[in-house]
Amino acid sequence: MKRFRGNLSTSNPTDSLNDGVSRVAEKKSGFNIMKSVGILVVCLLILPILLTVSSFYREPSSGGVSGFAEARSFRMKDEEVHHPPLDGARESAEAKDFKTVAEKVTGSENVSSHSVDSPEIRHLGGLLAAGFDEASCLSRYQSSLYRKALPHKPSSYLLSRLRKYEALHKRCGPYTAPFDKALEQLKSGHKIENEECNYLVWVSFSGLGNRILSLASAFLYALLTNRVLLVDRGTDMVDLFCEPFPDTSWLLPVDFPVNMFDSFGQNSPHCYGNMLKNNMITNSTESLPPFLYLHLVHDYGDHDKLFFCDQDQTLLHKVPWLFMKTDNYFVPSLFLVPSFEQELRNLFPEKETVFHHLGRYLFHPSNPVWGLITRYYHAYLEKADERIGIQIRVFDIGTGPFQHVLDQILACSLKENVLPDANVRESIVQPSGNKRSKAVLITSLNAGYFEKIRNMYWEYPSVTGEVIAVYQPSSEGYQQTEKKMHNRKAWAEMYLLSLTDVLVTSSWSTFGYVAQGLGGLKPWILYKPENRTAPDPPCRRAMSMEPCFHAPPFYDCKAKTGVDTGALVPHVTHCEDMSWGLKLVDRDEW
Ligand code: GDP
Repeated sequence: MKRFRGNLSTSNPTDSLNDGVSRVAEKKSGFNIMKSVGILVVCLLILPILLTVSSFYREPSSGGVSGFAEARSFRMKDEEVHHPPLDGARESAEAKDFKTVAEKVTGSENVSSHSVDSPEIRHLGGLLAAGFDEASCLSRYQSSLYRKALPHKPSSYLLSRLRKYEALHKRCGPYTAPFDKALEQLKSGHKIENEECNYLVWVSFSGLGNRILSLASAFLYALLTNRVLLVDRGTDMVDLFCEPFPDTSWLLPVDFPVNMFDSFGQNSPHCYGNMLKNNMITNSTESLPPFLYLHLVHDYGDHDKLFFCDQDQTLLHKVPWLFMKTDNYFVPSLFLVPSFEQELRNLFPEKETVFHHLGRYLFHPSNPVWGLITRYYHAYLEKADERIGIQIRVFDIGTGPFQHVLDQILACSLKENVLPDANVRESIVQPSGNKRSKAVLITSLNAGYFEKIRNMYWEYPSVTGEVIAVYQPSSEGYQQTEKKMHNRKAWAEMYLLSLTDVLVTSSWSTFGYVAQGLGGLKPWILYKPENRTAPDPPCRRAMSMEPCFHAPPFYDCKAKTGVDTGALVPHVTHCEDMSWGLKLVDRDEW
């Protein structure tokens, strides 16, 4: 069978997304959201009858809670998870609202085997607290309509810590008395002992994928150190994400007195690493400042990296305000800090699910972004038997598209059976051919790769007879982090990639890491090309769905010497796509 080898130099510039979109004509069996809503409707119709019957038989002394709340607490009883109080009326109303919203989303009441009405599924296995205003953030409880049920359940300990964190955030968050008190202290420049609430301010920095990963890392650090996480709005954090914690805000108030975040850097006077370097601060320093700046950006120095040492954590623990700037997913190195070890073990018995759970807990697309996601999903992806995501991120200088990148994508997709080859010998498949459909979602700043792959499956049938439809939501040309719609599209595309069944990603790209983590997917990672040549082999399967920490420290804090931090424990190892990076994997040693 002769392989199709697309040649980019012949690409037709008049091809466009709109005129070339392949349509999947046949509706296939398999997961279907429209059907799912039907089940929900049927369940909601039957449920009141069941509840009436069950309350008829209930002992009067058992209390007046409704069936929903009772069923829920029964299910969670074994896990000893405390949920915020939920009265039955509210829960029932929530379920009713959900039905209405689900109908709006799908526009159908067909029946499916995907039971979307379960509070367990809606709240992502207890990850999400109940009680939010649903309309203000449709994605929060609707995401379960679009995702496959996965085997990775959050631990009951993680759930209880999240509820505890939410209570802390509510007690100490913006506009509370402890917050005002801590603010006064910050303004005065003097540290007061025994503060009730301590804070971690995450400074908005870098591309969107980097920001999502660094914010998840900051949240985990806040959880481990009992700090309240506050988010610098940057230009678009409010526009892209919903509030993750109930009855409070994670956003730094607009009138917050410290707002010169751009001036924070490795050499700024409040930078912890800089202060250590200049002997301005030691573990025995008596009068600590009320705030410190932590520089954890990829260019950080040896003194900044001491953040990952237990001794330094002891000192940082005494400082009420920490400001953090980072573009890294630094979670793997937290697993190497002895004082965090036990807690992390309890929180994440499955170590490769850290970003998977925290990402799903924290990052809910805002309504405008959810609109981009759901409209695209229903228009192009919903009806396919299988959804394939191909995330193309090229770090080479020059605009591309590059022939070696296209060659590599095709080589990987064909070798690993992600896509079928094109049958260049025949121009038409026999009517008896396999009519399974695959929707291929390509994301890239460049439209060239998409055009080539789409044309390949238009000009030739697939050797398997499968119908291959190829789509790309946007081709923005270059990174435009300052533009609102650009970032909305980037976030929507990461999320759409996370809804696919099989994923191919580019090396070194946090954009791809976000998609794989949210989706719970182990992607095929395209090796980074060297000298503009397609690598052989073109790709490999990820060891875990976790992102890679691109700039980890290589330091043994106790021995005060260099060490390979990727070889200390089996669950923190070097990444597939970056030999010096670190990532979490699941091995049987714990
Ligand atoms: P990374 O640089 O690949 O690690 O990912 P980041 O998300 O941190 O930064 C890259 C930025 O470039 C994104 O946030 C987008 O602004 C833009 N970008 C890169 N690839 C794509 C893409 O496939 N689609 C869209 N819409 N934007 C992209």
